[in-house]
Amino acid sequence: MSIVRPFNVEQVRSDFPVLNREVHGKPLVYFDTAASAQRPVAVIEAIDDFYRRHNANVHRGVHSLSQEATDLYEGGRKKLADFINAASDREIVFTRGTTEAINLVAQSFLRPVLNPGDEILVSHMEHHANIVPWQMLCQQTGAVLKVIPINQRGELEIESLPDLLTERVKLVGLVHISNALGTVNPVAEVCRMAKKSGIPVLIDGAQAMPHTPVDVQALGCDFYCLSGHKMYGPTGIGALWAREATLEAMPPWQGGGEMIRRVTFEDTTWNDVPAKFEAGTPHIAGAIGLGAAVDYLSSFDPAEIAVHENTVLEYASQRLQEIEGLRIIGTAHHKAGVISFTLKDVHPHDLGTVIDHYGIALRTGHHCAMPVMQFFGVPATARVSFGLYNTVSEVDALIEALLSAREMFV
Ligand code: PMP
Repeated sequence: MSIVRPFNVEQVRSDFPVLNREVHGKPLVYFDTAASAQRPVAVIEAIDDFYRRHNANVHRGVHSLSQEATDLYEGGRKKLADFINAASDREIVFTRGTTEAINLVAQSFLRPVLNPGDEILVSHMEHHANIVPWQMLCQQTGAVLKVIPINQRGELEIESLPDLLTERVKLVGLVHISNALGTVNPVAEVCRMAKKSGIPVLIDGAQAMPHTPVDVQALGCDFYCLSGHKMYGPTGIGALWAREATLEAMPPWQGGGEMIRRVTFEDTTWNDVPAKFEAGTPHIAGAIGLGAAVDYLSSFDPAEIAVHENTVLEYASQRLQEIEGLRIIGTAHHKAGVISFTLKDVHPHDLGTVIDHYGIALRTGHHCAMPVMQFFGVPATARVSFGLYNTVSEVDALIEALLSAREMFV
């Protein structure tokens, strides 16, 4: 990875056109990156350039535009493969995002081998995307969903794992960084523990990709799922990483064009991986935009991004605690990019609406993680989440807005 730019937050901000706009007459403060990050101009231009100059379908054409489109699309795959240190770009299956990647693993990898009474293990802090596909699979097969507990800080109770990792467990699904709490999970350690019992591990990397360098080989997982839009790329594109041999052993999931080698009415043979899992015309511009997002992220030293984001996170955690009646939900020792909180008994939606009038975008609700809300005994939280473009002075603006809102409600 070649490092081309020192990290300078003001320069970074100028890469994101939307940050120039105002909301309700105030400069936009975007604290909703965990829901979807903003896009740098490099990503916007890569997509624009594709549609203006190269647009055609991929893989099937001999004409120049189709070949250019194919090169750009496959270039996106190669960039992503290098970014997460995959052994080969054949290990990257493009999907619509993390959700689709998890469903693919559930239906193609796990469903054929599951028997009634088998277990799937997930943690108590999972996003619904890493709960519901397994629950559906349990309904289809008679398998059982089991839960790794968390503690009051919102950390994984890793000491409970040895007892939970029985021979009945056929897969562990774990979030790398929790979108509701910000907890960074010890995923490599969990992989090591599961591997001792020969249990495959799927990591939901949706929130980790923008915050931390991911090396799938070093992590030791079997599946890594990610979404383009969380890492400054487009919506509607993401990926599943798995070893080539694993993907080869898995049956196709969706049927259609592109995933076949030969079709007759009697029989069909499958294409090689990853095409076997990419039925139909893919999100070509999305893959190109994701490649541009990878280039963008790779243009910084990841350690510099982490230092900056941690500064903002620490500062915000500290300042939020100055507000009387504010409770932070999720106080893990190792956190990244997210702070969930409640303010007395003010409904988070009301809080979010008032805060929006200060030009500040934060998210309110259950963050697609209802079981974690149930654990903490709250129906919803307000959540601020940070990207590499956020600053401590934006945090000051948030604190002022929250203090005014507090006057209004409490
Ligand atoms: N997992 C986590 C931790 C997430 O934050 C999200 C998105 N909020 C998802 C999975 C689902 O991602 P997508 O909607 O892009 O498929």
